[in-house]
Amino acid sequence: MIVTRPTSMAEVAEDLAEEGVRPRAGGTDLTACLETGVIAPGPMVDLLGVTGLDEVDWRTDGSARVGAMTTVAALGSDPELSRAYPALAATARALATPQIRGRGTLGGNLLQRNRCAYLRNPAFTCFQTGGDSCPAREGDHLRGVVMDQGPCVAPHPSTLAVALLTYDASAHLATGPASEVSVADLYEGTDPTRDHTLERGTLLTAVSLPVPAPGERSAYRRATGRSRAEWPLVEVVVRLECADEGRGPVERAAVAAGAVARTPLRLPEVERALVGVAPGADLPDRVDGALTALADRCSPLPATGYKVPLLQGTLRDAIETALEVPSR
Ligand SMILES: Cc1cc2nc3c(=O)[nH]c(=O)nc-3n(C[C@H](O)[C@H](O)[C@H](O)COP(=O)(O)OP(=O)(O)OC[C@H]3O[C@@H](n4cnc5c(N)ncnc54)[C@H](O)[C@@H]3O)c2cc1C
Ligand code: SF4
Repeated sequence: MIVTRPTSMAEVAEDLAEEGVRPRAGGTDLTACLETGVIAPGPMVDLLGVTGLDEVDWRTDGSARVGAMTTVAALGSDPELSRAYPALAATARALATPQIRGRGTLGGNLLQRNRCAYLRNPAFTCFQTGGDSCPAREGDHLRGVVMDQGPCVAPHPSTLAVALLTYDASAHLATGPASEVSVADLYEGTDPTRDHTLERGTLLTAVSLPVPAPGERSAYRRATGRSRAEWPLVEVVVRLECADEGRGPVERAAVAAGAVARTPLRLPEVERALVGVAPGADLPDRVDGALTALADRCSPLPATGYKVPLLQGTLRDAIETALEVPSR
């Protein structure tokens, strides 16, 4: 297999212009996909040695542009990033294993393939591998979606994307029709053949975050079937921007969930219910009402009904935690 090792963005662009060339970041998912036949072997461009792709640039307004090759471990341990974007840092510290976090990158995490067992078993074909059906829908879909956007029922795997949605972050692209898109636009719920919207040959170079919000309170919670080295069954990020440097009532809430749909999802009914809630006070009834409305909106598969109360409970836990922890 041909692997080029460019050191500059100009060289990367040249390599990616060749037909069928695929970027390789940390390689943690790409290697697994090659081994299981999810991805056919082909030429690759290794991004590890490209100057500047792993840098964090701080703008004068206090916002950050984080290079796509920044490792998940660095996202979780960088003190400045943790202070400015605590929800992002919390997701980075929680996902996968120390080994994967040390190798896996921001870009690779956002663009990894889903974890469906049928997809990763060469004995099966499905929409994602050129077939015309979804064996998981009729078969084992215990870890599948709870909001059925069909026809593929595998939830999106990126934990970092859940946090980035709550920051309304944007992704910078080196090639393709737009040079900057929202992270939300990287995902598309209905195309069953893919897990993100990036065209082959397009490089994600960085993610831009907004000016840090004063008085932010946040929490990340995940429900898993085992404590280590496991993808979540449900995961949620709650970010609250509160008045009076975090001591006053919630002025703006951003809430997102992962592992429940083909894309990471913002939950507007929960966000609306949280505006006006004061830290330390009992949660008003309207929050329970929003969690009920969310449950009503779910469309579980035969084996994923358990995720509905799990989502509600995980959300409540994250909301209570965000309102309890000291603000940044
Ligand atoms: C036991 C275990 C548990 C895990 N748990 C979680 C979890 O809870 N949450 C979670 O989010 N992940 C989890 N993961 C997955 C892990 O986070 C990913 O494998 C990793 O983040 C991928 O990053 P990478 O840099 O190695 O990507 P790679 O494997 O190098 O690339 C992944 C894909 O992205 C493309 N790509 C990479 N970088 C770019 C770029 N800059 N521009 C365009 N395309 C690019 C590649 O071509 C490839 O298709 C887990 C993995 C394991 C093994
Ligand atoms: S859920 Fe998606 S990835 Fe899994 S078998 Fe169905 S189409 Fe394929």
